[in-house]
Amino acid sequence: VLKVGILALQGAVAEHKRSIEKAGAEAILVKRVEQLSELDGLILPGGESTTIGRLMRHYGFMEAIPAFYASGKAIFGTCAGLILLADHIESGETAHLRLMDMTVMRNAFGRQRESFETDLKVAGVADDLRAVFIRAPLITSVGSDVEVLAMYQDEIVVARQERLLAASFHPELTEDDRLHRYFLDIIKATV
Ligand code: GLN
Repeated sequence: VLKVGILALQGAVAEHKRSIEKAGAEAILVKRVEQLSELDGLILPGGESTTIGRLMRHYGFMEAIPAFYASGKAIFGTCAGLILLADHIESGETAHLRLMDMTVMRNAFGRQRESFETDLKVAGVADDLRAVFIRAPLITSVGSDVEVLAMYQDEIVVARQERLLAASFHPELTEDDRLHRYFLDIIKATV
């Protein structure tokens, strides 16, 4: 069975663990860089990207996660996790990994639409994926190697670049585990 780590420094960790187990893989809560070596894939959860970024830097993940990716492994970032994967954050000082060729804007929906739910068409995943957005970021531009998998009102909310998957919303907060299963399929193609 595939072993999927969930970066457990801050944020929606337990919910991702539950979704990964429901999707049929083993979930491992990752607090130390040494744990990365036993994993097939890694999830960067939602939460507060500045806090997670600061803790990642403190515990050595800013170097260890790019090395993990370079060794052929897959990474899935959701909400704050998407921000951490980005190459560039608009008007932000947040520490980030710069792995995925995209620019993101934090808290992009403004105060009127801080939190909402909708059904999304996600290419290759579902026509009606239940998506919970909470103070969500948007992907404002992508490089040519990035495949856009879902849009919401003309904005990019799910994208993939090789073994990197990013979603602006919280797929772990619903019973709909199809995006987690899609991530497991990306991992299976690597092992
Ligand atoms: N607004 C948060 C941030 O910028 C992300 C929100 C979330 O992960 N639900 O870090």
